[in-house]
Formats: sequence, C-alpha cells, structure tokens
Amino acid sequence: MAGTPLIAGNWKMHLTRAESVELARAVAAASTGLTDREVMIAPAFLSLAAVKEVVADSPVRVAAQNVAWEKQGAFTGEISPPMLQDIGVDMVILGHSERRHVFGEDDAMVNRRLTGTLQFGLSPILCIGETLEEREQEKTFTVIEEQLRQGLKDVQSDQMKQVVVAYEPVWAIGTGRTATKEQAQEVHAFIRTALADLYEKTLADAVRILYGGSVKPENIDSLMAQPDVDGALVGGAALQAESFARIINFT
Ligand code: PEP
Repeated sequence: MAGTPLIAGNWKMHLTRAESVELARAVAAASTGLTDREVMIAPAFLSLAAVKEVVADSPVRVAAQNVAWEKQGAFTGEISPPMLQDIGVDMVILGHSERRHVFGEDDAMVNRRLTGTLQFGLSPILCIGETLEEREQEKTFTVIEEQLRQGLKDVQSDQMKQVVVAYEPVWAIGTGRTATKEQAQEVHAFIRTALADLYEKTLADAVRILYGGSVKPENIDSLMAQPDVDGALVGGAALQAESFARIINFT
C-alpha cells in the first residue's frame, strides 16, 4: 500500500447543483473522523464551487473531471487550472476513458493537460486502461505501458509526488463487470514496475494506484486488500450516498 488510501467518486455528467450539494453533504458526514484514508469527489464543473463550500469543514477533497493546460486564451469550452484554483479545487481527473473514447483525447493531449496541470500545482489523477479487445488480444501490458509512458512524458521525479494513477479497464467501467482482485493486482503490480523503470523504485512505491471499474460495496474490501491497490475511482456507486459511504468505509 502506497501512502494514504484514496477513495474517489467521479460523478460524471450527473446531478444538478442542488443534488450535488445534497450528496456532498452526505459524503462529508460519512467521512467525519476518518484519518486513515482520503475521500475525494469530482462533480460536474458547474457544481464545483457549491460543493467545495459544502465540504469546506470536512476532510473531503474536491476534483474537476478535466482541465486545460493554459492559464487563459482561445480554448472554447475549456476550463483552466487557475480557474479551478480560484474556487479552491486542487485535484483533477485526466485521461478518463470517456474523454479518450467518446471525445477522442489521445495520449498526447492527456500529457499536455497533465504537464500543464502540474505546472500550476494541481494534482492529477491519470487514468489508463485497456479495452476488452486489447485484453483479449493479450495487449493489456503493452497498452498500459504506452499510456503510462506517454501520459507522463516530461514529468519530472519531483512532480510525481503530486500524481495519482488510476487503472480503469475500459471493459469494467459502467458495465457492472469488475476486474477480479487478481486481475487488478496483476496490472497494478505491472504499473508499479513500469513506474520504477521510468523513475526509481522508491518513487514508484510511493505513487498511489487506484482501481476503477464497477467498484461496489460488495467488492471494495477484497480489492483494497490487494497489496498494490491504493484506492478506488468510483463512478456509478459514488452517486448514491449509502453505497459510497460503504465504499469509503472499506475494511
Ligand atoms: C469511472 O467513472 O471512473 C468508473 C469507474 O465508473 P463505474 O464505477 O461506474 O464503473
């Protein structure tokens, strides 16, 4: 286990501002007194400021679901790192499979976003993961290594302290089909070795690697028991206060 376990909820394009505030209140209440784990939620952009206010007196961290790399400029539809910092948001999910597969973001763009994010002092969660076809063709490790190498291009060792990696097999996201704990552990261990090759072992041992893909109350305990699983990135099950509270309180 590297660092403090992180349980992160990705709310995707769900919930109005009022609904986001209500759920954030419940997450803050469920996180009260937890000192041995970190909790993070990533609402839609329009709800970030309101959610940030609601969790201000709690340990819950708030993240954006994407961010651009420049301070300002002609980037219609984008949000800049300083805009997030202006409302106290210091984490951001990058390279989520929906950004890659629905919106066509490639490794080069994910890397551009990630290096920009780091320059402004935000912490990125870099999402990587293979499709079902790639897994069936036994390309999982090649794909993961490539996404990791390209996503982290030009990221210096001292910046890696800020970076979290999330392994999210595309075939497990929103499908109800979770990777087995053995499949998750195998890829997480591979990611750690790849990080050690890119940087050094002590640094690789300190990077948090989250698992994402149909995490639920029923499978969180066994996933978190794996030696290289340092947390979870949760989609669907993060949208209900009760199920997310159970996931946060994994044993
Ligand atoms: C996600 O959105 O990152 C995710 C893993 O979704 P789900 O938990 O619904 O599979």
